[in-house]
Amino acid sequence: VGEVAPETLTDGFHLLIDALKLNGVETIYNVPGIPITDLGRYAQAQGLRVLSFRHEQHAGYAAAAAGFLTKKPGICMTVSAPGFLNGLTALAHATTNCWPMILISGSSEREVVDLQRGDYEEMDQLAIARPHCKAAYRILHAEDIGLGVARAIRAALTGRPGGVYLDIPGALLGQVMDAVEGQKSLIEVVDPNPASVPAPEAIDRAIDVLSKAKKPLFIIGKGAAYAQADDKVRELVETLGFPYLPMSMAKGLLPDTHPQCASAARSLVLKESDCVFLIGARLNWLLSHGEGPAWGEKGSKSFVQIDIEPTEMDSNQKISAPLIGDVGSVATALLEKIGGSWQKPDESWTGAVRAKVEGNVAKMASRLKNNNSPMDYQGSLGVVKELLAENPDVVLVNEGANALDQCRSIVDLHKPRKRLDVGTWGIMGIGMGSAVAAAVETGNQVLAVEGDSAFGFCGMEIETVCRYNLPVCTVIMNNNGIYRGDGENWGGGDDPSTTVFVKDSRYDKMIEAFGGVGVTVDNPDALRQAIKDAFASRKPTLINAVIAEGAGKESGNIGNLNPSSVVAQQ
Ligand code: ADP
Ligand code: MG
Repeated sequence: VGEVAPETLTDGFHLLIDALKLNGVETIYNVPGIPITDLGRYAQAQGLRVLSFRHEQHAGYAAAAAGFLTKKPGICMTVSAPGFLNGLTALAHATTNCWPMILISGSSEREVVDLQRGDYEEMDQLAIARPHCKAAYRILHAEDIGLGVARAIRAALTGRPGGVYLDIPGALLGQVMDAVEGQKSLIEVVDPNPASVPAPEAIDRAIDVLSKAKKPLFIIGKGAAYAQADDKVRELVETLGFPYLPMSMAKGLLPDTHPQCASAARSLVLKESDCVFLIGARLNWLLSHGEGPAWGEKGSKSFVQIDIEPTEMDSNQKISAPLIGDVGSVATALLEKIGGSWQKPDESWTGAVRAKVEGNVAKMASRLKNNNSPMDYQGSLGVVKELLAENPDVVLVNEGANALDQCRSIVDLHKPRKRLDVGTWGIMGIGMGSAVAAAVETGNQVLAVEGDSAFGFCGMEIETVCRYNLPVCTVIMNNNGIYRGDGENWGGGDDPSTTVFVKDSRYDKMIEAFGGVGVTVDNPDALRQAIKDAFASRKPTLINAVIAEGAGKESGNIGNLNPSSVVAQQ
């Protein structure tokens, strides 16, 4: 530095913060520690919102959810080795879900790591991150910070979105350079999310296939929700007139109460349809790969698919008409080509689907109104359904096994991107991180419906919810265990079963320790009142909802994925 006046200098800390701000970053999900503690403090000083969590995985899940909600990369910041690894789970989750996220982790100096001299939290983080994300970069020099951040943002957003790892050796942050040169080195990324317009031949081919279908069906996925082309998707669905199934995080893109929504006739439409038009949804395990008994006779369907990722086509079934592009551009091109000349499917198909939907909804209605104590899933979630219909801007976070499956099928969503759940992996523990991100990114009330097991993976973050005074109401569906609370030790010993928890736990006491509101309820009327109070006060609230021990089933709706032993018999 010598005789240079300090005000003409900048450093790695400030260049990194300036680069993020220049590219529109407003929020960082963080866990402080060496070497990034001051980076968080300086970011806060420079006007960024920095939310510190208790564990990196939840800061990461928050960043991932923020990416989905905002169509901009969610930023998570962690310390080296263990903190990095904790955050990496969330980065891999974001990548698997096709959500933009950047994990920025501090790391040890290359000279020490590469000679394996045994540094504090030594780890070759860049190499470890690379297979678990879309791209991974390391910045070694202050003058490259602009470049590194620009590459991370573009990689996270362009094409199929995903997670990016950015490795920040501690010494980089302290590097000094001329302030004017430093500002000149930053890059504001131009059009990181470029439109991807389909070829005219692809549009013609798709219209040809779709117009021949007698029993067509849409399946709409979270890629369509992410695309934020809500009006175009709705116009396409209503113009073509097919019944549609929303995947879980596409619920509400069109209201679940829309007359074309076929959720309550899922088995019928999957089996009977002759043409399936996928919009931002993959034919992965969540759709049993487009085959098997649920899908009706083998070879009975043609598939049309919109996806931004060309190699997604034919990943599970032959795609007769691939539409490569972003959802908004493809929907626009289809609608333009169709003009006013579309023949909607015959009433014999849409009417049959509608009748099935109405029959099943009517069958369910009385069960959702029961006031049993302790509660079952129908009575308790019937209340949630009713309250979300009255409060359609509430963001619903949902995880668990039965708590997930039952809530997904019972609770209607009415607006786009109002549901955050376990995603493509079906992981447990996303709840509290997602709830924080939902409250911070939208400003709306959040309702987290959590299985008691799922909550255990992230429960400490209710302190984070209380510390930032976020409008998050968490309902613990407490049935004393994983799947069910009445399991027994198969060996007959004194230890409890591997799948049960302390009976009659009072999760509501946990939030009281941090100044939040705790309530315990054992019937639907009391649950309704407690949620209403939470919505009215917007105070951090935790409701311990007592569910009957035997109400759940093994692995919820996916018990078929459990291998079974042919020799041992319980
Ligand atoms: P779901 O689990 O809801 O079925 P998936 O995560 O399986 O949804 O599928 C989402 C798909 O959406 C991915 O294949 C992804 O490439 C695609 N996608 C993401 N963003 C866009 C976009 N803007 N336009 C088109 N496709 C997109
Ligand atoms: Mg449970």
